[in-house]
Amino acid sequence: MIDIHCHILPGVDDGAKHLEDSIAMAKQAIAEGIHTIIATPHHKNGRYNNPKNSVLADLTRLNERIQQEQIPLTIIPGQEVRIHGELLEGYEQEEILTLTGTSRYLFVELPTNYIPLYTEQILFDIQMRDLVPIIVHPERNTALQEQPERLYHFVQNGALTQITAGSLTGKFGTKIKRFTNEIIEHNLTHFVASDAHNTKSRGFNMLDANQEINQNYGQHTLYTFMDNAQHILDNEMIYIDEPARIKRKKFFGLF
Ligand code: FE
Repeated sequence: MIDIHCHILPGVDDGAKHLEDSIAMAKQAIAEGIHTIIATPHHKNGRYNNPKNSVLADLTRLNERIQQEQIPLTIIPGQEVRIHGELLEGYEQEEILTLTGTSRYLFVELPTNYIPLYTEQILFDIQMRDLVPIIVHPERNTALQEQPERLYHFVQNGALTQITAGSLTGKFGTKIKRFTNEIIEHNLTHFVASDAHNTKSRGFNMLDANQEINQNYGQHTLYTFMDNAQHILDNEMIYIDEPARIKRKKFFGLF
């Protein structure tokens, strides 16, 4: 199995604190049947900056240690980029890294509680550069929870999305779990990934999530998600089902 979203790099964000943490996460990944991880440290999220060169250097050190420990895990570069006005400039200046470092696929993170005004424009500009934006964990954005039609428009306009395994298994509560299922049912997501930060509170949960997908949506959906992760590694096209709108019941209050 491939995990395309993981905070396994040591000491660079709120993921693994040090090398020993990273090794523990690597062992948990292996136990879950994961053989390849894209390391995606936070970038420009207001707390953490991890420009391309430092990601690559940190990754080399981690991979050396993984080899020494003889853990059969391949870790490749990536980045979780918070959406910001100068995102494309950062890409031009080689601060921003696509998934694998050479693919067209770029992780874009929205803030937790709102959707910035320039979001549509940035998603468009990314695609004009022949890159494909992947919105990470849309199910955890409170504005999208309330206005899911906005997610439909992002996908309709060419963005892909990645849901988090723990959202599906209920680690973030029932509201997020319900929205995650709606997102899958309406063909509004293309990848499932761990977004693991450690081995305890924010572990991988990939096996449990895959079991849920298999049970609720069948093997075809599970294999589509798994194939899509492989397509990122190979920089190939992603299989896209026609997205549908999630309808929210209108609530008319008394004023
Ligand atoms: Fe993340």
